[in-house]
Amino acid sequence: MEKDVLEIVIDWIKESQKIIVLTGAELSAESGVPDFSDPRINPPIRDFRASREVRAQYWKKIKEIYPVLVNAKPNPAHEALAEFEMFGYLDCLFTQTTDGLHHRAGNSLVIELHSSMLWVTCTSCGKDYTMDSILAALEKQGKDIPECEQCGGDILKPPISFPGQPLPHWEVREAWMRLHYCDLFLIVGAFLENQPASSFPTLAKEKGAKVVIISERQSPADDYVDAVIYGKPSQILPYIVKKLKEGIPVA
Ligand SMILES: [Zn+2]
Repeated sequence: MEKDVLEIVIDWIKESQKIIVLTGAELSAESGVPDFSDPRINPPIRDFRASREVRAQYWKKIKEIYPVLVNAKPNPAHEALAEFEMFGYLDCLFTQTTDGLHHRAGNSLVIELHSSMLWVTCTSCGKDYTMDSILAALEKQGKDIPECEQCGGDILKPPISFPGQPLPHWEVREAWMRLHYCDLFLIVGAFLENQPASSFPTLAKEKGAKVVIISERQSPADDYVDAVIYGKPSQILPYIVKKLKEGIPVA
């Protein structure tokens, strides 16, 4: 851990009025959860709609890997961000993760840019189900793909974007709007190679915010942001929050 950069970033956090955090797959990975937005898991939407066989393969895979998510626990990075919100430092937390672990850690100001794996939607009539109930029904009925109990359709999927589908519109628009007004943008373990996230750091900087990246990996944005801290989010975030708490007077 680079101590000097860390201390500077901690000062920036203390001085900021509106802090936006963006998190991504590194947080899921540290809790052992697969990245469900990975194209290796999700087939192109056109194939998914056209082929019953593709849907059966998809649901077979989900039956295998979803229990990992059910049994996963928030890690120290999630817990630190929940404290970050509790102590009033957070304006909003955007996440590329789809596993719901930020909610489970106690964050409430969460916007899921890639939506959530905890839900399943019928693409014909729009009825929503919990993933748990869909998987339980498959198990009970011995079927390979779920059917909608309202319209009988058999093209049901989590609301996350498959290749060929846009990201959820409202969430992305909300991110854009809020990034116009933040003064510190903290990017933690997120994937910045694709749009729209690849333009978030540039936008925040253009609008005058400081931009900080915390990640185990290098990213294309590292060269132009204000600070980069390389390392595990589960080690760096708890350290930052501990330092912030030291500055809070005990009532
Ligand atoms: Zn339906």
